[in-house]
Order: sequence, then structure tokens, then C-alpha cells
Amino acid sequence: MPRPISATVHTAALANNLAVVRRAAPRSKVWAIVKANAYGHGLARAFPGLRATDGFGLLDLDEAVRLRELGWAGPILLLEGFFKPVDLEIVDRYSLSVTVHCDDQLRMIETARLSRPLNVQLKMNTGMNRLGYTPERYRTAWERARHTPAIGQIVLMTHFSDADGARGVQHQLAAFERGADGIAGARTLANSAATLWHPATHFDWVRPGVMLYGGSPSGVAADIATSGLEPSMTLASEIIGVQNLAAGDTVGYGSRFTAERPVRLGIVACGYADGYPRHAPTGTPIAVNGIRTRTVGRVSMDMIAVDLSTVPDAGVGADVELWGPNVSIDEVAQASDTIGYELMCAVAPRVPIRAD
Ligand SMILES: *Cc1c(COP(=O)(O)O)cnc(C)c1O
Repeated sequence: MPRPISATVHTAALANNLAVVRRAAPRSKVWAIVKANAYGHGLARAFPGLRATDGFGLLDLDEAVRLRELGWAGPILLLEGFFKPVDLEIVDRYSLSVTVHCDDQLRMIETARLSRPLNVQLKMNTGMNRLGYTPERYRTAWERARHTPAIGQIVLMTHFSDADGARGVQHQLAAFERGADGIAGARTLANSAATLWHPATHFDWVRPGVMLYGGSPSGVAADIATSGLEPSMTLASEIIGVQNLAAGDTVGYGSRFTAERPVRLGIVACGYADGYPRHAPTGTPIAVNGIRTRTVGRVSMDMIAVDLSTVPDAGVGADVELWGPNVSIDEVAQASDTIGYELMCAVAPRVPIRAD
């Protein structure tokens, strides 16, 4: 038998979550964001659940090529654009759309030999201050792109830093309107948080990522409790050992948990080398035989301990859900001082993943 840990990608949940996006932004087209190997789900495994999208957005040229090889003939957007002139050969061959965020990229396009017009998303920096033209320089860049024969459609784009938080989007939306004033063309602004919580940003294309996977854009599970989103990944394992601790006994490295009274613990085949966060403290939610309980002690490389007080029937071989329908990935992330995004992306290569 292989080690009992595995992850499952829920195809129906992906399709459901895409339908939630459609309901939230009924007049917009959808770039389904599948960067980072579809947020750790695997591009090929996520593709069937998301194929009703209008386009896919990602970062790596080889991910784009893999998507074409899976049979996707529709739009593909490279969210960071391209990096070297040689990239444009692949962009051209596979008919990809690119983000353009600086003059170096425009220069590369101007001197490239392309077989068809290149569709670009011209990126405005409205306050994130990573990539893009400032509102003041945007029109000049747009004029230059418009007069570049190799460029076809130009979509106006920006990206929000605080769509999930207190600062919101208003300041960036105002900057965008200023920079794009009087410029015709489709617009794309909204990530998941803006798709869910800022309808005024939807425009022509929304760009949801984490919500497609049932993750909360704010990192707080309760924020999406009534959204209809479903977790698209379950990380599961089994109990491989049982320990009965007396009062005063400890478990795991550093003796981080001391039993106050006799307690029955299960040892789970899952550790930080599987992608479970090492920072998960005692009390992190986990489910055994579908019943929620808590982890105890420090997460080791290959194992964690779980409190079986509330699951007296569970022994070796009992089912354990690290995250999934009973324990949201955001709860585990929050307990561990990170976000669901990171946990999804960090499932380790040694964990077998299948789609259902
Ligand atoms: C990752 C990304 C998104 C999706 O973000 P989520 O918060 O996962 O919805 C949208 N647009 C761009 C440019 C991105 O890089």
C-alpha cells in the first residue's frame, strides 16, 4: 500500500464556482486564473471543471502551451506578459494574449516578426506599484501601442491591492478612470475579491482566481460562507497509530502539547513535507471520520497528532480530512498565519492528486 495521504480535485466544485462567478458578474466575460499550476490543483485536473470559461489567465509559457495541448482553443492571457523577444515566437505560435506593462515590452513587440496581430492587455499601475504605467503615462503608452502594427486589440487593465480589505478599491478605481479617460476599449480590473464585493469594477472581463477554488480572497472563511462557493480540493489521509496519554504526557517534537487529563490521540500520516503548514498550532481544526476535532502538538515532517476525545470509535485506518468540505482550507491557513492561496499552491509533489 502507498502511504495513505492523497489530494482530490473536485471537478464539480470548480464548475460550481465558475457558475458563482457568472452570477456575481453576469455581464462580464471571465478570465479563469490558473497560474501556479491552477493554484496547485494541476492544470490538466482543473481544466475539465473550468472549460466553460471565456479565457484562461496564467503566467508561464509552458503552462499556456500545456493548455493548448489539452485542447483549449480560446483566449489565453499571460498575466505578466513576456520577458524576452524569443518568448514572442511562442506567444505568436500559440496565439496567446499578453499583458504589456512597460516600454521594454512595447519595443520588443515593435521589432518582432509576428504572423498575426497580438492582443494585449495594457496595464495601468493605479497604486499596487508592482507593474504598469502610471495614470499620467498611460495615454502615451496606449497611443504607442495603438500605432504598433503588430498589436491587435488593446484591453485596459489594472490590478487591485486591497479589494478584500478595509482600504477597498475606490482610490484605484479613481486613478484608473483618470488614466483611461477618453480611451475606448474593453476593461479588466477585478480579481476574486472585487468580483465578489465590488460590482462597480466588473466591466468587460473579470479575473477570478482563488474563488474558483473555493478559497476566500480575504483569507477569512466566514467572508465567503454565503457565497455558494465550494472547496475544490480535499487533502485527506488516515490515522496510522493511536496513543493513550496519561495526564502529564506530551506528544511530538518540543513537547509542545501536554495532556492535562488522560487523552486518546491519533497519529496522522501528514506533515509539513506534504504541504501541511508547520506553523499550525495545537487547536487547528481537522476532521476524523467527518467529525471536526483539533490537532495537538507540533507538526512534524511526516506526521501530526489529533485529539480523538470526540471520536472514540476512530482507530488505525480512520479517515482524516486535513482540509476540504468539513474543514475549510482558510481555517487551517488562518490558524497558521497564512492564507488558503499558499496552502493550495504548496501541496507537495509527493502527495498523489487525482480529480473526481
Ligand atoms: C492572480 C491574479 C488574479 C487572481 O487573483 P485572486 O485573488 O486569486 O482572484 C487576477 N489578476 C491578476 C493580474 C493576477 O495576477
